[in-house]
Amino acid sequence: MLLIPCPHCGPREEREFRCGGESHVARPSFAEAPNDEAFAEYLYVRTNPRGVQAERWHHLYGCRRWFNLLRNTVTHEITAVYPMGAPRPEPAP
Ligand SMILES: [Zn+2]
Repeated sequence: MLLIPCPHCGPREEREFRCGGESHVARPSFAEAPNDEAFAEYLYVRTNPRGVQAERWHHLYGCRRWFNLLRNTVTHEITAVYPMGAPRPEPAP
């Protein structure tokens, strides 16, 4: 089980959280003509890396806030926690 460091509550067990998937997936603009291909890619295509991935997490059974973190998908090591809307930090070397 993961020990997830909530930026508001401190480290808590994974069962208190829900993963919201990959972070920084930009919604396509519909200011011009609607583009089905761009919207389908927004909905269904993810990078699914083997290594460090930025993810959104919701502390559902705690402070009920959302935040981002960097997690290694192989080792599950969490290397950074940062607020929603903040840019992705560079992973530690
Ligand atoms: Zn929390």
